[in-house]
Amino acid sequence: MIVQNTLCDQCGTCIAVCPEDALMLNEHALIIDHDKCTECMLCVNICPVAALEKKQ
Ligand code: SF4
Ligand code: SF4
Repeated sequence: MIVQNTLCDQCGTCIAVCPEDALMLNEHALIIDHDKCTECMLCVNICPVAALEKKQ
């Protein structure tokens, strides 16, 4: 997963749906733990501003 932090408004919606607890917010940005992420796409599909994408 990659996040475009210029689009992300830090709403926290993706954090709530992530089954792997791979997402967290610090004071400036959404952080993705790539070791935990299984690329299930739940966060990509739920983000209201399309800030998340699967890595190529
Ligand atoms: S793709 Fe799935 S496992 Fe990875 S961060 Fe998003 S919700 Fe979590
Ligand atoms: S759902 Fe989208 S806008 Fe909200 S915190 Fe996650 S990446 Fe940012």
